[in-house]
Amino acid sequence: MIQIEHLTKIFGEGTADECVALKDVTFTIADGDIFGIIGMSGAGKSTLLRCLSLLETPTSGCILQDGVDISTLRGKALIDAHRKTGVVFQGYNLLMQKTVADNVGFPLRLAGKKKAEIAPRVAELLELVGLADKASAYPAQLSGGQKQRVAIARALASNPEVLLCDEPTSALDSLTTKQMLALLKDINAKLGITIVIITHAISVVRTICNKVAVIDASQFAEGGETKAIFAHPQSNITRLLLGKDEAREA
Ligand code: ADP
Repeated sequence: MIQIEHLTKIFGEGTADECVALKDVTFTIADGDIFGIIGMSGAGKSTLLRCLSLLETPTSGCILQDGVDISTLRGKALIDAHRKTGVVFQGYNLLMQKTVADNVGFPLRLAGKKKAEIAPRVAELLELVGLADKASAYPAQLSGGQKQRVAIARALASNPEVLLCDEPTSALDSLTTKQMLALLKDINAKLGITIVIITHAISVVRTICNKVAVIDASQFAEGGETKAIFAHPQSNITRLLLGKDEAREA
């Protein structure tokens, strides 16, 4: 369980460029959820993801993962917390000079695992993401969707409890988007892993997220079961996001 409590992030605090990216945000992500965090551009979604993935330190408030405030961890406890959370970044961040198999095995090599241990794990992960036949290919030889599958396999290498995905469909066409969402759903079901998806696309949330948090202008607007929130939106921002989606689908 991840409890985000009164999370505030201020960039350049006290300077002329001060920016309140998150303000007093509180909500909970339960184990096994496919949890959507949705909002307009600039709402604070990526900052939230960066706080969840320990890349950003909150200005105040906390993030409790299984009761432990992850933003205060140091040393080995911090490294262990990093392993518990896999991240799939928007640009995928693949190592272009390394093969698909080496990209996926990279976190295991960093963790000091032996070659004999890494190879079967990489094969298993590539099978899971449907890229068993691309082990020796290089990222430049792959489509956008395939690159993202490599990034997902790599994020899963250390057996994390949580997979964070930053706008996983923003660069994909509609068929690849469908396949990507099906893969994430499959991973959630097969591995029982909690998945958090940052997105501006309400169709993504509608398709696979059982829960949602709507972020608007740095603040938590509303959240809960996706079906209930979308059936009876309480905030203007959710109505606006739903309206835009319906207009696009019409
Ligand atoms: P979203 O992901 O919803 O588009 P972001 O979290 O990227 O929103 O940004 C929220 C706000 O925080 C924006 O006004 C953005 O300009 C600001 N911001 C994000 N990162 C930084 C940073 N490193 N330094 C200063 N301001 C930032």
